[in-house]
Amino acid sequence: MLEKVLIANRGEIALRVLRACKELGIKTVAVHSTADRELKHVRLADEAVCIGPPPSAQSYLDVPSIISVAELTNADGIHPGYGFLSENADFAEQVEKSGFTFIGPTADTIRLMGDKVSAKQQMQRTGVPTVPGSDGALPDDPDEVIRIAREIGFPVIVKAAAGGGGRGMRVVHNEEVLLSSIQVTQSEAQAAFGSPVVYMEKFLQRPRHVEIQVLADGQGNAIHLGDRDCSLQRRHQKVIEEAPAPGIDDALRNEIGDACVRACLDMGYRGAGTFEFLFEDNAFYFIEMNTRVQVEHPVTEMISGVDIVREQLLIAGGAPLSIKQEDVSLKGHSIECRINAEDPRTFMPSPGTIKTFHAPGGHGVRVDSHVYSGYTVPPHYDSLIGKLITFADTREAALVKMRQALDELVVDGIRTNAALHRELVTDSSFMAGGVSIHYLESKLEHEH
Ligand code: ADP
Repeated sequence: MLEKVLIANRGEIALRVLRACKELGIKTVAVHSTADRELKHVRLADEAVCIGPPPSAQSYLDVPSIISVAELTNADGIHPGYGFLSENADFAEQVEKSGFTFIGPTADTIRLMGDKVSAKQQMQRTGVPTVPGSDGALPDDPDEVIRIAREIGFPVIVKAAAGGGGRGMRVVHNEEVLLSSIQVTQSEAQAAFGSPVVYMEKFLQRPRHVEIQVLADGQGNAIHLGDRDCSLQRRHQKVIEEAPAPGIDDALRNEIGDACVRACLDMGYRGAGTFEFLFEDNAFYFIEMNTRVQVEHPVTEMISGVDIVREQLLIAGGAPLSIKQEDVSLKGHSIECRINAEDPRTFMPSPGTIKTFHAPGGHGVRVDSHVYSGYTVPPHYDSLIGKLITFADTREAALVKMRQALDELVVDGIRTNAALHRELVTDSSFMAGGVSIHYLESKLEHEH
């Protein structure tokens, strides 16, 4: 069992990790930038150390500083949260080499899944369905490339093996521009990610984003906790997520979940993870794996009753998985709205001081947020100020609760996207369930 955990993150996820640690009797160390002295988890942690100025590169991404704080405070584990260093294999390696436990998978697993070509090959080995496409990296021979594209059928998408964050991708609609598009993507990939390797797959036209949550202990046990639908996105950023994904039958959900479990066992996966899929015409197509806890993990917690962060901590402490697949029972429906400090129309960030903050509450309402009245949202980081999560027996009832929760929410002093959420939870297509990943952007285009 871990005794003291350093939380290498900020905001709501740092608070989420801190709470899970406290419940398990694990001591906590907060590291923070000079802009984040007033963060809630910094105040609640057993120890807090300032590690640098506001820019992330000099604080939350400063590996030597973080590791020296772990040494100075005698922490034994480091939780990376999401974003920042959470999927940085070199960091995980450094942490373990310095004698600490990285709360996540091994550096080798992060590397394997961080390269989209090797991740896809790993999935194919264990029967996880992938998007039809090139067999690994694209070859140099132009004739061969054209042959592959014809076989897949246009439109195709050219993707950087090392890409991430929705960057390093290009859709190609016809053969005339294929080779030049590949060249551009290669040089962009080289510049942005330090590797020119690209691959090609079928471009799905109207998919949904559906993902599977897994937990594995690296000791031969793995389970899945069902799926989440995160199709409401803007610029590849998720806006609303829900579990389970509407309209997908249990047999198919379990079939894909079991395939993800097999993949975890095959690669000796350890910790929490998410397999992301595009879902079209009732079929799943793997796109990537996130080897960390995700922003939207609460919706799965609500329908499964499993505390995912607690499991991460227990697994990292060396405990075998405490839950078996047959013990997992998914009940009801949960929805999450991401509340961002941003203008609801222009989406420009809106940092500043929150004069008044009132969180909604009541049965089936959960608020994961680090903000409070008088808190100043710094301009340096992600604009997420909290997550509103509702849970009820049915999707309709969870939506009713969300409307109520959004009505109760008060954030005065800065702008937030709450108005957009209020509009979305009464939108007839969203209410019907199963909109595609393009729905939100096309709605915004038409209405604003
Ligand atoms: P990243 O790591 O940059 O997030 P992903 O592989 O997860 O990259 O893809 C990001 C997004 O790009 C997907 O959510 C989807 O919107 C789009 N996308 C990726 N691959 C395809 C595909 N084959 N067909 C259609 N859209 C795709």
